[in-house]
This record gives sequence, structure tokens and C-alpha cells, in this order.
Amino acid sequence: MTQSQTYDVIITGGGIMGSATAYHLMKSDPALKVAVVERDPTYARASTTLSMSNVRIQFSLKENIQISQYAFEVLKGFEEQMAVGGERPRIYFHQEGNLFLVGAENEAAARKAFDLQRSLGCRIEWWPRAQIKERYPLYEPGDDIVGATYGPDDGHFDAYAVLMAYKAKARSLGAAYITGDAAAIATAAGSATGVALATGDKVSAGIVVNCGGAWAAELAATAGVELPVVPVKRQVFALDTAVKPEGPLPLTVLLSGLYFRTETGGLVLLGKSVPEDPVGFNFSWDDQRFMELLWPELAEFVPAWDRLKLVRGWAGLYDVNTLDGNAILGEWPQIKGLYLATGFSGHGLQQGPAVGRYLSELILQRPVSLDLAIFSPQRILENRPLSEAGLV
Ligand SMILES: Cc1cc2nc3c(=O)[nH]c(=O)nc-3n(C[C@H](O)[C@H](O)[C@H](O)COP(=O)(O)OP(=O)(O)OC[C@H]3O[C@@H](n4cnc5c(N)ncnc54)[C@H](O)[C@@H]3O)c2cc1C
Repeated sequence: MTQSQTYDVIITGGGIMGSATAYHLMKSDPALKVAVVERDPTYARASTTLSMSNVRIQFSLKENIQISQYAFEVLKGFEEQMAVGGERPRIYFHQEGNLFLVGAENEAAARKAFDLQRSLGCRIEWWPRAQIKERYPLYEPGDDIVGATYGPDDGHFDAYAVLMAYKAKARSLGAAYITGDAAAIATAAGSATGVALATGDKVSAGIVVNCGGAWAAELAATAGVELPVVPVKRQVFALDTAVKPEGPLPLTVLLSGLYFRTETGGLVLLGKSVPEDPVGFNFSWDDQRFMELLWPELAEFVPAWDRLKLVRGWAGLYDVNTLDGNAILGEWPQIKGLYLATGFSGHGLQQGPAVGRYLSELILQRPVSLDLAIFSPQRILENRPLSEAGLV
């Protein structure tokens, strides 16, 4: 026999977006009935737990910078504010900086982004080429490098711990987590009415928030909503280098997009998005990619790392917004009560705090703390891309 339960808000997907939204809703209105439907409480394939966990102000779109400024604020006070029953989460927020190399071809865009970041009060430094080597003697910037931008506040944290903290806090405030597969979004007369579960049960609510990450577009399609969002496989490699740096290295991004940073335990994490990365729900991990393509490039920039061991790695999914590589946030204009948070294209983890707060404010019809209307789904219907030149 099928069963039906009624809530004020149902959130599909309990990753960083779903859990931060549940937390903000409950914090703002403890009387609300909020349910989060999550198919995998281990989060083994969630992008949140497979990410590089980087947070940076080095974006070129004002709102993305402001989102990260808010993330810094939240992460600094997170352990205290998210304690449940006196137990504080430990999130290991390391502000070890991000270093973006600049070449002649991206210099103008980098200068523009740098000026914008400065104008918004961010700490950001412009380094001439010599300074890169001075500060990080292992690095060998080639003649194609004119300098770098360094954001000293950028860094990384334990994504799983942050996710668990949002979830625990949301539950302590009254949110329900339902383990189940959302099979379809139900609508009637142009409004959301709930979610049909794969079991045949239905959870009803006038507000449905689709936080399904790389799976969000599939679920949106069940309500006739077509989103330009596709799952794209991205791989991360963990390296044990024979020569260890003297201290932590910033997340360093080469001109080609190859990036790496030090991790706890003396390891180095490295990745690179390439156009051949397959679209689909593919989690296979391919060490050949590192051996044949990435290692030679890495060893050119850090010659001391011509000896290293590939220890392990993993693959996760970006929810790539093929229109403009940016988030899609807010109510779908054609279905009342259906809210979306997807399309984060590889920089969503750091956006969780701001997105959770923003969606809760939209849903509760309160004034917004940070105006993120620029990410409205309306632009999808109008085929009007945002531009985030240079840095994604
Ligand atoms: C390799 C890699 C590196 C990254 N590095 C960074 C980084 O350094 N910084 C950064 O900010 N971002 C990074 N990201 C991106 C970031 O991880 C994502 O943007 C962010 O985690 C998205 O959160 P989410 O909650 O939308 O999705 P997810 O964490 O994927 O959560 C979605 C959840 O929804 C559930 N779900 C989906 N469909 C259904 C359904 N129908 N029914 C029930 N449950 C469902 C899934 O099981 C999943 O748990 C990276 C991503 C990857 C893969």
C-alpha cells in the first residue's frame, strides 16, 4: 500500500545544497515541516564528498566573489555555531591560499578580476614572476608566465564534516531526512505538489527544492523542466612526492588549468578538467591519465616531483551548466513552488552556505541578505548566459 506524508517543503538531495537549505529554513522558522529526500545517506557518490573542498574569492563575477566572502565568514565561526548538544564539528579550515598563474593570454582578464576583487574588499595580491619562485622555491615558472594572483584567504576544509554538521544541525532543529529515491516531481495546475518516491509512496508539499546535484536535471525533467545541466566526470589524483615542500602549498592553478595543492598527511592532490572528460554517470578512475598527460606537465613546473608515487585517486561529477558554467538558483518561472539549486559546474561546495541562506529567504519570502537574482532560472528560459571570464 502506498503512503502519503505532508510537509511544507521537500528538498530532493541532501548534499551541501539540500542540507544547508534545510538548516536555514529550520533556523528561520522552527515551526516549518521540512523533509530532505536523500537516496544515499553514505554520500559515496555525492559531489560534496568527492570535491577538492576549495574556497576562493578568485572569481570574476561579483556575486561569486560575494558568495565566497560569506563562505569565509561562515567557515570561521562554523565549529562554534553548528555545535549540536555541545558537540562541535571539526572542519579543518586551512587558509593556505590560491595561486593562479597569469600568462600574456589571460593577463587582461586576470587584472580585471583582480581589480574587482580588490574593490569588494578582498585580500588579493599581484605577484611578478620572480616572487612565485621566491615564495615557493620548488616551482619553476616558465617564460610564458608573467606573474600570478595570490589570494591569501583562499583555502580548503573538510567537506564531509561540513556536510554532516549541516545535516545534524538541520535535524536537531526539526528537519526530517528520508532515505529514498525521488522518482518524479509532482505538479498540478502549474504548481508543485510534492515528490513521488520510487517505492510508490508520495511526499506532499507546495514547495519542492531540487538539490539533486549532477542528477538534478534528470529529476527536473520529470516535471517537464529542461535544464542545460549535464553530469561530467572529473578526476582527482593523490600523490606522494619524493621531495616534500617545506610547508603547505597553495592551490596552484597552471595556465592549462592543471591544479594541485598539499593535503594533510604529506600528500599532494591534483586534478585537471579536460574537454574529453565524459558526460554521464561515470565514476571510473583512470591512472593512465595522470601518468601520460598530467605528470609530465607537473614535473615541468615542479622538476623536483619527477619522482613520486601515485597513491590513489577518485572520480566525481560536476553538474556542468552548459549555458554559462554558473549556478541556477531560484523558482522555476513556469512552476510555482518548484525551486532549483544546480549547475554549479565545479565551484558549488563553497557556495553551499550562501545558497542555503538565499533559497530559504526566497521560500520564506523574506528580504535577501545577498542578492543572487543574477543566477535566476529565468535566464535559462531566455537563453541568456552570464559571463565569468577567465576563471571557472
Ligand atoms: C572532483 C571534484 C572537485 C570539486 N572541487 C570543488 C572545489 O574545490 N570547490 C568547490 O566549491 N566545489 C568543488 N566541486 C563541486 C562541488 O563538489 C559541487 O558543486 C557541490 O558539492 C554540489 O553540491 P550538491 O549538494 O548540489 O550536490 P551533491 O553533493 O552531489 O548532492 C546531491 C545529492 O542528491 C542526491 N540525489 C540526487 N538525485 C536524487 C533523487 N532523485 N532522489 C534522492 N536523492 C537524490 C544524491 O545522492 C546526492 O547525495 C568539485 C566537484 C568534484 C566532482
